[in-house]
Amino acid sequence: MDCLLNYDLDELYKLAAETGQPRFRGEQLFRAAHEGRTWDEITNVPKSLKAELTARGFWVTGVEIADKLISSDGTVKYLYRLADGNVIEGVLMKYKYGNTLCVSTQVGCRMNCAFCASGLDGLVRNLTSGEILGQVAAVNRDAGGTLAARAVTNVVLMGSGEPLDNYQEVTAFLRRVNHPKGLNVSERNISLSTSGLADKIYRLADDGFNVTLTVSLHAPDDKTRLSIMPVNKAFDIKTVLDAARYYFGKTGRRVIFEYALIKGVNDSPEQAERLAALAKGFPCHINLIRLNYVRERGLKAADSVKAFAAVLESEGASVTVRRTMGGDIEGACGQLRRRYLSNESKSN
Ligand code: SAH
Repeated sequence: MDCLLNYDLDELYKLAAETGQPRFRGEQLFRAAHEGRTWDEITNVPKSLKAELTARGFWVTGVEIADKLISSDGTVKYLYRLADGNVIEGVLMKYKYGNTLCVSTQVGCRMNCAFCASGLDGLVRNLTSGEILGQVAAVNRDAGGTLAARAVTNVVLMGSGEPLDNYQEVTAFLRRVNHPKGLNVSERNISLSTSGLADKIYRLADDGFNVTLTVSLHAPDDKTRLSIMPVNKAFDIKTVLDAARYYFGKTGRRVIFEYALIKGVNDSPEQAERLAALAKGFPCHINLIRLNYVRERGLKAADSVKAFAAVLESEGASVTVRRTMGGDIEGACGQLRRRYLSNESKSN
């Protein structure tokens, strides 16, 4: 199983040649794939070429939109099927300045954070760069966009999976998503969210990437963080902050810390003070998130996000409370997929 979006333009020229086709067919395939078309929707290449590539197991984008839920605020939640039958999900959020698509980087996740639905069954597999790109291409088309006038203007790597645990494919995606003949999304419009794989943060900086780095902090001290994020055993808070500072030094881009407020775990005024102290002197912005309730996890959202934010503000930290979007459509990360999978197993 493979897909055209796993290949760059030069490789598609070669593929065209291999199948006895003229070179320009390579570029037609490249365009069609980035336009998010399915084989049936590609009408400008010979049927024989399509037949040969499908016989060789090629999908076009690597993902197929299987289901879609539209919220009253315009947010759209997507469920995609992959060529091997796995399913992943994503969400398109509409803002005044453009539309942001949240993409997945793995099927499942091995981080097993205590509040997150994606890690409940561990890691199933890494997505390929084409499958990550395919999410952007398919949604851009579904939302009425073209390559010249994109409906997806921003991308956040915040869906299921730990992007830095799939370094090779994720960076291949980053290299390809800004192709001028492809989707042309620049690094300035991309955020990568990590649970804090410090070694890979250094690598990302050294490899010359410039995306906005978002670190899922969720606790101001190691004891609390370890109780909800097993990854803190490998990379404690100081190690992660050192890496984030290095990333800032290389890129000049302010780092964003994510902090989901969990009742009785990380939401006390003392913890807000400690978080403010960590942020002091650090080129960062704090994004407070209302916890989405995940039934299998049981953790509850804090009563007040405002009070916590007020402490941070009074200490001079730069902080915003993330707007909750799509609350009426399976808000919590990873939950649409779980419902889909459990319905499927019931019907089997
Ligand atoms: N693995 C990466 C990216 C995927 S998670 C990371 O950890 O950053 C994207 C963001 O959603 C992270 O900040 C994560 O901590 C947060 N998140 C996960 N489950 C959540 C929930 N139930 N409620 C609110 N935020 C959640």
